[in-house]
Amino acid sequence: MTHGNSTPAGKTVLISGASIAGPSLALWLHRYGFTPTVVERAPELRPGGYKVDIRGTAIEVCARMGILDDVRAHSTDMAGGSYVDDSGRTIGELPAEIFGGRVEGDDEIMRGDLARILYEHTRDDVEYLFGDSIAALDEDADGVLVTFESGLRRRFDLVVGADGMHSNTRRLIFGEEKRFKRYLGAYISIFTAPNHLGLKQWETYHALPGKLTCVYSSAGESDAKNLFVFGAPEELPYHHRDITAQKRLLTETFAGDGWEIPRLLGHAADADDFYFDSISLIEMDRWSTGRVVLLGDAAHCASPASGQGTGLALIGAYTLAGELAAAGGDHTVAYERYERAMRPGVEMNQKIAEGFAKEMTVGSKWKIALRMFMVRTLPRTPWKNLIAKKIRDDIQRAANAIPLGDYAAHAAARV
Ligand SMILES: Cc1cc2nc3c(=O)[nH]c(=O)nc-3n(C[C@H](O)[C@H](O)[C@H](O)COP(=O)(O)OP(=O)(O)OC[C@H]3O[C@@H](n4cnc5c(N)ncnc54)[C@H](O)[C@@H]3O)c2cc1C
Repeated sequence: MTHGNSTPAGKTVLISGASIAGPSLALWLHRYGFTPTVVERAPELRPGGYKVDIRGTAIEVCARMGILDDVRAHSTDMAGGSYVDDSGRTIGELPAEIFGGRVEGDDEIMRGDLARILYEHTRDDVEYLFGDSIAALDEDADGVLVTFESGLRRRFDLVVGADGMHSNTRRLIFGEEKRFKRYLGAYISIFTAPNHLGLKQWETYHALPGKLTCVYSSAGESDAKNLFVFGAPEELPYHHRDITAQKRLLTETFAGDGWEIPRLLGHAADADDFYFDSISLIEMDRWSTGRVVLLGDAAHCASPASGQGTGLALIGAYTLAGELAAAGGDHTVAYERYERAMRPGVEMNQKIAEGFAKEMTVGSKWKIALRMFMVRTLPRTPWKNLIAKKIRDDIQRAANAIPLGDYAAHAAARV
């Protein structure tokens, strides 16, 4: 279906953020005849990160993008995971299908690998501006005059904020983050460190009241990732770019804890990919105003607890670009259709995140004992397949909640 009489030819689109949503959108927009530019605050593509699931409809999006073989070649190939006690003794082991709730065809990849794959598939066709950020947006009838922090000023037809949970574009256009952020009661930190436990495609967990520590190493990685989650009733006072304060908070929270925790924490100081953030949702009544629209975590962060943020970013980019192409570049029509297509699935995934956020840490010693009992006995129980199926079915429903539109004709029309 085509809306409007204009054509995408040459329409310029500035995209803020070069992680998952931004480069995915750029790939599709270029395919449909738009001229995308991506601005990224970091001086270069941000490496590292953590493993992210790609499931359900997002797998089909990767196939249509032509990146699925590359994604599969970088699969984490996790075999499973175990829980250990204070002395490092294994309490129970679970295979990857139960741990990840995955089905045949689902995949898991390091966020940094996926970002690099997307960048490599777009860099010859898309202009990337690294080390810069939008300072001001002035919209008029013909477009948006963008002033960058570097002092550069350029006009674009459309602007897309794909700059994550702490979106700068959202702040400039819609207002302060706190109006849209809903804290789910926990914090998460992850960073790269030497693999001194010698893990191979394996994750090892240690639970304490209100806290969870995990170390994992995925296929092709010689290092490990050290991951910490802890509950906090109120949000902690620090700035999201103040890494020193974040490292201090993490160290104070886990000070005096047993197992390998002191050694794992010791590597935080030198980690150059240190990540620390609250587990929070971004909830907005609308994702666009005028010529500016939000995409991915910037619009609707579902938090790491959903396990679907990457999928939503990929599907959102596919849908936004497709609707812009279908509307002949008419953003008023396209933004509305994009939001209508995405919103029910986004809300379903955010609801899942609320549930999982509560489960990520366990509040008391006896509840941990109960969970460890389940971990120990589950692999031997006759109903383990039923439980695994229930987990998989719930996750798959959410991963397939957003139907994909068919926009192929708009790309084919350009060939
Ligand atoms: C520990 C952890 C585990 C996760 N696990 C999963 C999982 O298993 N499955 C899953 O699907 N998702 C998972 N996620 C969520 C997933 O990483 C995000 O949902 C996904 O990366 C969103 O992509 P995005 O491109 O919208 O935003 P982001 O990945 O946050 O990228 C935003 C980009 O914008 C850039 N930027 C920021 N400010 C500016 C600015 N002012 N100007 C220009 N650029 C800017 C940033 O540097 C970054 O490159 C996890 C997240 C975390 C933290």
